[in-house]
Amino acid sequence: MNELTNLRAEAARVGAELSPLIEGLGEDEALKLSVKSLGEAGITAWAVPAAFGGAETELVGPETVSVRALCAAREELAYCNGVVDLAFIMQGLGSFTIALSGNETLGRDFLPSVASGEKIAAFAVTEQGAGSSLGEVQTTATRDGDDWLLTGVKTFISNAGVADRYSVLARTGEDETTMFSVAAEDVRVERFEVMAPHPIGEVHLEGARVPDAARLGEEGSGLKLALSTLQRFRTSVAAAACGFAQRALDESVSHLSTREQFGRPLSKFQGLRFDVAEMDARLRAAQLLVEEAASVLDEGDDATSEVARAKLIATETAGWICDRAVQLHGGLGVKKGSVVERLYREERALRIYEGTSEIQKLILAKEIFDQES
Ligand SMILES: Cc1cc2nc3c(=O)[nH]c(=O)nc-3n(C[C@H](O)[C@H](O)[C@H](O)COP(=O)(O)OP(=O)(O)OC[C@H]3O[C@@H](n4cnc5c(N)ncnc54)[C@H](O)[C@@H]3O)c2cc1C
Repeated sequence: MNELTNLRAEAARVGAELSPLIEGLGEDEALKLSVKSLGEAGITAWAVPAAFGGAETELVGPETVSVRALCAAREELAYCNGVVDLAFIMQGLGSFTIALSGNETLGRDFLPSVASGEKIAAFAVTEQGAGSSLGEVQTTATRDGDDWLLTGVKTFISNAGVADRYSVLARTGEDETTMFSVAAEDVRVERFEVMAPHPIGEVHLEGARVPDAARLGEEGSGLKLALSTLQRFRTSVAAAACGFAQRALDESVSHLSTREQFGRPLSKFQGLRFDVAEMDARLRAAQLLVEEAASVLDEGDDATSEVARAKLIATETAGWICDRAVQLHGGLGVKKGSVVERLYREERALRIYEGTSEIQKLILAKEIFDQES
């Protein structure tokens, strides 16, 4: 537990220091500075297994990452700033398939520099025709001697244009997908913007030549590898949601305590006090679901239901809390530059990426009904 307490404290410290520094920077510069600083503070090391240069820990074995640690760090970083949180977690999501696949070359040459924040990673699975339904990817990888040629377009790829390597899911047969690690110089990136700062875009593979040594895992193991990676990292999205929500709650308490209307602080009005009490109670429920899912994952047990519940409830709850926080701030809540206005935009995508809320309900319902039959 000491490890988690120390990590939380360090993440809170670095997050608070970085937030004013990256304000006003472009999103690429903000992300790069965040990765570098998080690396120097030893925080990105928690996103990589100890066996590949990551943090030594007693929380889990050396071949994997501790989800409790990912969650502790993300809750604190998201409390401070969405880009800092993104910078941390993409180091893990973007590189974990390499660790999981047991690729020794990349495990030795790339992962330690991801852990230290010197190199940046990305996870490229989504396509225009394959979002929730990842099995439908159309990007192809065909053999050419000892190499593979990859052709297709990935979209909504976080860190596109900033990353040094992309973990790409491609079709290697009619019913078969495989993952590859592709170097930045072998792709073309087209950027677009989303509603909150977030380096993101399309990754075009135009006959990208990839050596067989950059294949991740057995041929045909691609979808399993991608889904196992998502399963390990998804709970941390729920933790980030709790971080945004905690900040929205704290900002609301502070605002209601100081803002006066009708001759007294807004915190004296019972209706608004009830709002805050409900925000607090719902947030605690979400945090407990995150703790449960992260603990079950770290124990190595099946956490399908726990993860789905945590992702669904924490991200939806955070959406509700950030929305209430905007309301409690009145006009200031929608004024550009106010903290709750930023949180409202930053939180929104968490209900969509790494499995939408609807997909979490599908997963949970399947678990419930399959157990019955
Ligand atoms: C900010 C951001 C960052 C992202 N980063 C990455 C990244 O780094 N790498 C990457 O590969 N991808 C990334 N994504 C993509 C993300 O994972 C997908 O957007 C997500 O999986 C949903 O896919 P989609 O957008 O195609 O929506 P769709 O699958 O088209 O879904 C549209 C709507 O239909 C619902 N729906 C779909 N299928 C069903 C069903 N069977 N039953 C009920 N409802 C259903 C969905 O829940 C949703 O509400 C990112 C997305 C965002 C917004």
